[in-house]
Amino acid sequence: MPFSNGLTRNVVQCLHDFDIPLYLSHTVTDIRGKEKLEGITIQEVDEKFQVIPNTEKSFDVDTLLLSVGLIPDVTLFDSLTLEIDPITKSVVVDQNYETNIPGLFACGNSLHVHDLVDEVSIESKKAGEAAIRYLSFNHQNKKTLLVEKNENVRYVVPQTIAYNQLEVEHIELSFRVTKKISAATIQVLQNNEVIQTKKARYLVPAEMLRITVPKDKITGQSNLVLAVKEV
Ligand SMILES: Cc1cc2nc3c(=O)[nH]c(=O)nc-3n(C[C@H](O)[C@H](O)[C@H](O)COP(=O)(O)OP(=O)(O)OC[C@H]3O[C@@H](n4cnc5c(N)ncnc54)[C@H](O)[C@@H]3O)c2cc1C
Repeated sequence: MPFSNGLTRNVVQCLHDFDIPLYLSHTVTDIRGKEKLEGITIQEVDEKFQVIPNTEKSFDVDTLLLSVGLIPDVTLFDSLTLEIDPITKSVVVDQNYETNIPGLFACGNSLHVHDLVDEVSIESKKAGEAAIRYLSFNHQNKKTLLVEKNENVRYVVPQTIAYNQLEVEHIELSFRVTKKISAATIQVLQNNEVIQTKKARYLVPAEMLRITVPKDKITGQSNLVLAVKEV
């Protein structure tokens, strides 16, 4: 990729602080060695990830670590008929972190990959409180809206809003962008009306973003749309 998929903090503390070079837009095109690894060759790629000829760089190395992305572990749910988000590769939830199976809640890295454990703690507290409410109230006939997204949003959690179960003052949308954006206006729209907005700078896919919407602004009339607009 032309950008790091890791947190800036990690790039600084793990690479810059140790003078370890970071070759963006490069891929490993050759590995050498028989009994053990002896060397690798990397080459530059273009914007379509095609290898650019004559850009070979060789390194004598005995170890190659591949970090090929994190996928939520939802194998425990394999026997259930759960709605899956093709981008997060995990279950679809509403603002209460409830899946399409009543009483089954998901949070943390089994729902979507988080950058920081603090975010997992906050989300899991909300999911736990929602589970208590599920046990306390007569939760039936859930009416849901979708949270749609514009082209700059890679994914958003929750993917649905149970608008007849808006039991907390604010709902929080967590999302990632598809590309690096230097300045943007983040909007939540319903019925083509902006119901929440905020400005943000230096948005990168590696860093999870959030926007909260007061529950009073949400009606049951139409889906919500999360839009990140470059400015
Ligand atoms: C490589 C890496 C480095 C990170 N570094 C940092 C960092 O420096 N700072 C930071 O704030 N965050 C960091 N994070 C992010 C943070 O650690 C994670 O987001 C957080 O640990 C996720 O918490 P979790 O409880 O959702 O999942 P996990 O911590 O993965 O916990 C899930 C637990 O469930 C268990 N489990 C799975 N299936 C079953 C089953 N069937 N029965 C019983 N138990 C089961 C697993 O064994 C595991 O212990 C890092 C994440 C990764 C992957």
